[in-house]
Amino acid sequence: MFLDLLFPKKCIACKKIGSYICDNCFSYLTFDAKNTCLVCDRPSFDGLTHLRCKKRHGIDGCFSSISHNKTAQKLIYSFKQKPYLSSLKNILSDLFYEGLIQNENFIRELNKGKWIAIPVPLHKTKLRKRGYNQSEILAEELAKKFNFQTKSLLERVKNTKIQLGLDKKRRKENIKDAFKINTNYMLDAKNIFLVDDLATTGFTLNEAASVLKRAGVKKVIGLTLARD
Ligand SMILES: [Zn+2]
Ligand SMILES: [Zn+2]
Repeated sequence: MFLDLLFPKKCIACKKIGSYICDNCFSYLTFDAKNTCLVCDRPSFDGLTHLRCKKRHGIDGCFSSISHNKTAQKLIYSFKQKPYLSSLKNILSDLFYEGLIQNENFIRELNKGKWIAIPVPLHKTKLRKRGYNQSEILAEELAKKFNFQTKSLLERVKNTKIQLGLDKKRRKENIKDAFKINTNYMLDAKNIFLVDDLATTGFTLNEAASVLKRAGVKKVIGLTLARD
């Protein structure tokens, strides 16, 4: 391609010329995202919320594909920079998909009913600035591969600060009341996969899940490409 001559592709992680992720760096990406309960942050063998941690409007679990190591971090960061969007879309959604189909706990949940994939939304100010929502793109790609529907059922009504650097208490306050149901859609889904690029504290997924559950959704499970 003409553009490749002007701007040769470089590995995002090590800068080696040839592709956006070289074979060597690719080999550092691992499908060993840890399974933790998103409520108490302790290990959960099947990725689901512990019975003792379940709340009426709480999230039911979370499945993630790769662990958030340095290489994954660089890829996810670059995915939010427009020039990398189209190339990384396929790489990242393939990784996301691979990690999920290898996960028997995910497959068990998937087979339990009809699911709709909903991206964790960006606030419109951020969306305007970036031009796209990376989580929406991942949700759409997953939906194609798994053949489920995707809808932007949630809206972000609070332009939250960057979570990085905030302590746990502030992160929780920061995300509180950040979401509401998008009234352009009929909410008739019973089971929802909430799709995001990364889960760290789980506060974002928990908050979004509680909004959906208060609106009548039965089950909400997070799906994230990477997990801290
Ligand atoms: Zn490399
Ligand atoms: Zn727990």
